[in-house]
Amino acid sequence: MQPPWVRVGGGTGGGPAAPAVPSRERRSEGGVARTVLIVEDERKIRSLLRAYLERAGYSVLTTGSGAEGLTLALEARPDLVVLDLGLPDVPGETVAREIRRRGSTPILVLTARAAEEDRIAGLELGADDYVTKPFSPQEVVLRVGAILRRAGTGAPGAGVRSFGGGELEIDEDRHEVRVRGRVVELTPSEWGLLVALAGSPGRVYSRTELINRTRGYEFASERTVDSHVKNLRRKIERDPHEPRIVRTVLGVGYRLGLAPDG
Ligand code: CA
Repeated sequence: MQPPWVRVGGGTGGGPAAPAVPSRERRSEGGVARTVLIVEDERKIRSLLRAYLERAGYSVLTTGSGAEGLTLALEARPDLVVLDLGLPDVPGETVAREIRRRGSTPILVLTARAAEEDRIAGLELGADDYVTKPFSPQEVVLRVGAILRRAGTGAPGAGVRSFGGGELEIDEDRHEVRVRGRVVELTPSEWGLLVALAGSPGRVYSRTELINRTRGYEFASERTVDSHVKNLRRKIERDPHEPRIVRTVLGVGYRLGLAPDG
């Protein structure tokens, strides 16, 4: 069963349905989830796209501002940018040109303008593809996957990453975490946190950064991160009061306490 083709944008209605079918396929390379930045001022579309992309295995950053989108595109170095052209502050066209001027990050343009000249203009901006509103979120997920494959960054993951002499294994392709050889069931937030920390073992991540890399700063608070970490530790640490895998760095945030194997 495919998820329902919920049409969003363009005023055609359609409720914010959750993705019905979790994708087994993880879009990753070298075991690190691909990051997609969504720049879209319509909150409903933004959260729907986030839900679908996350379900497809992407790490998602979002913003409703063109200026912030540009900053995030340059600083967070996403693998792809989904960019709405109609933004309230900086025009999407300007954001696209700036991103293109500074690098080769693929851009998927969202536009409410169906006129052909706009489509051509979208590609002249350096966009890799475009979707006209209203669109289905699933269509966007498919386009994102196609662009990343073309860019050679959407290849299946290298398999399992192992840490601490096999104490922790993360299999992004199967969306599976094993601790001391046993599969541990994690919530999406816990999974997101762990994968984010494992992205650069030993590096300290601030709570804000972790929020950005998991559920989005506009919905979560720093205390939410702490409670997810607490739950995560209960599942993966031998002694949650003496955590060795997810370490607290006082006054800063968290880091993965295990070194990568191999
Ligand atoms: Ca818009």
